[in-house]
Amino acid sequence: MSTPSKISPTTLAKLAKLGIHHRADLLLHLPLRYEDETHLTPIADAQPGMTVQVQGVITHSEVMFRPRRSLVCRLMEGHEELTLRFLNFYPSQQKQLAVGKQIRAIGEVRMGYFGLEMVHPKCRTADDDTPLQQSLTPIYPTTAGLAQPVLRKLINNALETIPLTDTLPAPLLKRLKLADFGDSLRLLHNPEADVSATALEEHNHDAWRRIKFDELLAQQLSMRVHHRERSKRIAPALPPHQKLTAALLKKLPFKLTGAQQKVWKEIAHDLTQVHPMQRLLLGDVGSGKTIVAALAALQAIENGYQVAIMAPTEILAEQHYLKLSEWLVPLGIEPVWLSGSLKKKEKTAAAERIASGDTLLAIGTHALFQASVEFNKLGLVIVDEQHKFGVQQRLSLRNKGDEPHQLMMSATPIPRTLAMSYYADLDVSVIDELPPGRTPIVTKLVSDARRDEVFERVRAACLAGRQAYWVCPLIEESDALEVELQNAIATHQQLTEALPELNVGLAHGRLPSAEKAAVMAAFKAGELHLLVATTVIEVGVDVPNASLMVIDHAERMGLAQLHQLRGRVGRGAAESMCVLLFMQPLSELARERLKVIYENTDGFVIAQQDLQLRGPGELLGARQSGVAMLRFADLTEDEDLLEQARLTADELLRDAPDVARAHLQRWMANKHDFLQV
Ligand code: ADP
Ligand code: MG
Repeated sequence: MSTPSKISPTTLAKLAKLGIHHRADLLLHLPLRYEDETHLTPIADAQPGMTVQVQGVITHSEVMFRPRRSLVCRLMEGHEELTLRFLNFYPSQQKQLAVGKQIRAIGEVRMGYFGLEMVHPKCRTADDDTPLQQSLTPIYPTTAGLAQPVLRKLINNALETIPLTDTLPAPLLKRLKLADFGDSLRLLHNPEADVSATALEEHNHDAWRRIKFDELLAQQLSMRVHHRERSKRIAPALPPHQKLTAALLKKLPFKLTGAQQKVWKEIAHDLTQVHPMQRLLLGDVGSGKTIVAALAALQAIENGYQVAIMAPTEILAEQHYLKLSEWLVPLGIEPVWLSGSLKKKEKTAAAERIASGDTLLAIGTHALFQASVEFNKLGLVIVDEQHKFGVQQRLSLRNKGDEPHQLMMSATPIPRTLAMSYYADLDVSVIDELPPGRTPIVTKLVSDARRDEVFERVRAACLAGRQAYWVCPLIEESDALEVELQNAIATHQQLTEALPELNVGLAHGRLPSAEKAAVMAAFKAGELHLLVATTVIEVGVDVPNASLMVIDHAERMGLAQLHQLRGRVGRGAAESMCVLLFMQPLSELARERLKVIYENTDGFVIAQQDLQLRGPGELLGARQSGVAMLRFADLTEDEDLLEQARLTADELLRDAPDVARAHLQRWMANKHDFLQV
């Protein structure tokens, strides 16, 4: 058996491609599926759809040229026959399958033109005396040029030579009804013939549960450790003085909802601490996060500290700027605006006001965290739509102060399991209630063939004194922006012609910001009936009189986006409607998505469905680049394990830090057992 030092550089490079950098990584390179070579099935018993191993003698072997070049063999066992068919084959295979040879073939049986057949079965020379395998044969994820037997040998070698000591104490395993680590690994790599291959492949065998638990536990531990490190850092304490915040609350035309009061209390308390807050504020579209952000900003300002509010798009940042100016200028606080589209001179002026401490509130886009911007005394950073920013971008803004508090906001609700795993290092506040007086939105699915009817609906709504949005399709090709723009212009023209009695405006990402602002202002003031827009209006627009939203080519959009867009209407008392115009034929995924958005209005339910349709990668957005993805556990199926892992992580960190350390060591980096040594 090869010793580790004998692994060739070529093989090492292939292993690295699979994420195997240390010998111990081989242990956790687990099979995708298994082949059962532990017994033989008589050809007479083989049924279409079954994957079986059969044995017989080759009675016919021929290269055919029609319908395409292929090697076709007949395998005979007694009086029963089966066809073996290969579309790609080597001369050596042809030799192995010559007439008169005895072989075993394993593969899925199906009904072909000449009766039962196997396509591309795995064959080997064997007769009645050849022993059967004692365990199921693992099939590993691999890469070109790294054959299964090579990988198998390396893994088995690692299993035999690396001690598989359990990181977790026996009483804990017993209490959680978890299997031994070493036993689990050995079983997954070499399962006995009587183990259910289905349970293994579907990952619900006890051995799998143990591995998944370990992985989740390691994730929880590392998140907790992260959280603890942060709580050791020092940030400015920003206690409430109830001056500015109270003044703002008094002037608001509405009362905070119970949910807003609750999250505001959580944030106010965090700001009082001498450790940096890192809180995620989740609230569905329209749940009223802006006022909470304004209150948080005021608490920092009351203490003489600066606040930066950052949003991912110019339009959204501008909305914040306008809204906060409306609220705060009367209190004597003049925000400064900073975005990429400002002229150089204006930018410099804004940066100077920030650097001198002349302004305590800066609002803008990512321009805020460019190197040229320096804060005088930054105490709080507020990031809206946090998932649209990369970890690096957020870090660079944080680094602008000694250790500012951070409030991240998101209207993309994170399903519970995601929040418990990938966001476990953050504190989470949820606004789970909408302000009163909203009427539910009616959602309609309309095929593009009935586009004219939708025009009529727009006309009727606008003539009745209300306003409408028409959102143009999202284009995903490389020249997306150009196509998107052309599309928006064409749609605008089409609607202007179809609805001559209406004032139709157009807003898209390429408009100079002054023009964009003018269009938005005209729409807000009711001078425009209909606003044609690209998805720039996805976030931030707030026009209560708009009661109709048409989403063109809705089949191209993701669930989160559809939900956000729909949330732009239904903000006033009028009955609102969202029309999802779709183009036939629909892909399976698009059909599923439209069904979910049609049947649900609760953002959390939609996010949960999104998690199921797309997996966590996309929902996490930029965050995933900062956090290790789960390889084995599945958040939609392993919620119980996640819950257990969470409790266990707390328990270990409290009572058995050594165990926690050893566990992290095995699962997270710092392995000294390099392949090369
Ligand atoms: P989002 O959470 O999507 O950012 P906004 O902060 O834009 O939501 O709030 C949506 C609308 O609801 C705004 O017009 C805002 O002024 C209003 N609003 C916020 N809180 C309340 C409340 N407690 N009562 C009534 N209206 C509210
Ligand atoms: Mg908002």
